[in-house]
Amino acid sequence: MRVSIPTISLDPLVTKAFPQVSKTEAVSRLVSFIEPGNVAVLTGAGISVDSGIRAYRGQNGRYLNPNYHPIFFHELADPTPKGHRFRQRYWARSYLGWPAIKEAKPSTSHYAIGALQYSNLVHKLITQNVDGLHGKAIPITWGAYEKQRRILELHGRLRTVSCTRGHSQSRAVFQERISSLNPSWRKYVDELARTGSEPRTNPDGDVELRGRYFTDFVVPNCELCLLEGVNADEASIIKPDVIFFGESISSAVKDRSFRDLECCDKLLVIGTTLATYSAFRIVKHALEVGKPVMMLNIGPTRADKFERIEKIEMKSGAVLTDVCSLVLGPKAHHDPELRRLMMSGVVQPPIDDTADNDTGG
Ligand SMILES: [Zn+2]
Repeated sequence: MRVSIPTISLDPLVTKAFPQVSKTEAVSRLVSFIEPGNVAVLTGAGISVDSGIRAYRGQNGRYLNPNYHPIFFHELADPTPKGHRFRQRYWARSYLGWPAIKEAKPSTSHYAIGALQYSNLVHKLITQNVDGLHGKAIPITWGAYEKQRRILELHGRLRTVSCTRGHSQSRAVFQERISSLNPSWRKYVDELARTGSEPRTNPDGDVELRGRYFTDFVVPNCELCLLEGVNADEASIIKPDVIFFGESISSAVKDRSFRDLECCDKLLVIGTTLATYSAFRIVKHALEVGKPVMMLNIGPTRADKFERIEKIEMKSGAVLTDVCSLVLGPKAHHDPELRRLMMSGVVQPPIDDTADNDTGG
């Protein structure tokens, strides 16, 4: 299965009108849905908007940045000089975009889900986001095993990179290598930070480069390949551990997404247009196996055509903390860990996109 580029792959997003509901009614419907427990949650870019990461799409389902052209997997993996230019473009842009992703803090919605995970009401979480923010908003008692078992990153993660021979390293280390090989770019990043003119970052960590060419950008080789004696000319290609447009999701990840859904009683979908098929088919599968589905999203989604989905047109940040308080009751105040999760989280949507919150990839 391939992750399709949303501009060309989608059925046209159905523009179906959903009745507007008051915040009180939205909270009450969400409480009723979540209270019995054993919920699977599927999230998209909309949930990270309050963390300052822009969604791909605005409230009308259209691209916030109509000129956005992501790099395809076959372009990045192309071993020819043309592929090298794609890799220069990708890594130059990603080099500028990474600090914003790395520094981003979980939103109140991420922490509300963390509180529901801690209380075992949300049993499985599947996210399309590659920003790692759900993993930063988990219960303090969770170790790496529990985190891996309870959160599935459907499209991978930006925080690690791998070469085509399977060597893996942290993105932070790789970023340092880029810096040391590209002093003029490092200066450029410092200058952008100093003047507060950081470029617009997409949810995949990519940015627009305006008026700056990347032909001088040095893409690091995999050091571990070089240590193993691989010739620098034949060194393997490094890519972040995310699924690129046009790249296949492994059957292991696909199967797990279905299993995670099947072991829960219902599915709550938050902040996504379901533009990518890998996410859309989880919702489709939920309906096929008779699980109730509720959606919390502003704007049209690919699943709006399904009658059996209950949809609430609202920002997750506007309701999830209140939902948590009501579902958890007095426990939310007495348990120090629950209190911490409920009191945490930022609400810092990107300044120029405040009208476009809570919809996305
Ligand atoms: Zn390698």
